[in-house]
Amino acid sequence: MNNNTNKKKIILIDLDGVLNNYNGDYKEEYIPSIKNGAKEFLEKLSENFELKIFSARQAFLVKNWLKENRLDRYITGITDHKEPAFLYIDDRCICFEGNYQSVLSRINNFSPWYK
Ligand SMILES: [Mg+2]
Repeated sequence: MNNNTNKKKIILIDLDGVLNNYNGDYKEEYIPSIKNGAKEFLEKLSENFELKIFSARQAFLVKNWLKENRLDRYITGITDHKEPAFLYIDDRCICFEGNYQSVLSRINNFSPWYK
């Protein structure tokens, strides 16, 4: 690993619904197919950031899926808890921008992009 890699800020990326074609139908042993453009997305992002997968799935299943889809080269780790990071990318989150009323409103109107 070179020194440049060590200095990159970390981005935690959710798996289901972000890098794959998850549609809300969760199956523990099955990870949906790669989402179109995901490889290019990670390739581009990894130029300036260290990327880790953030998933409640079993790590060995995620690791295999990454390898099968040739994404493992862009990922430095897999975690199931919220590690310190510069940013988090998730299909099920609301960005808190300092206004609780806005969050309440967005919760009531929330649905993931694939619904
Ligand atoms: Mg997700």
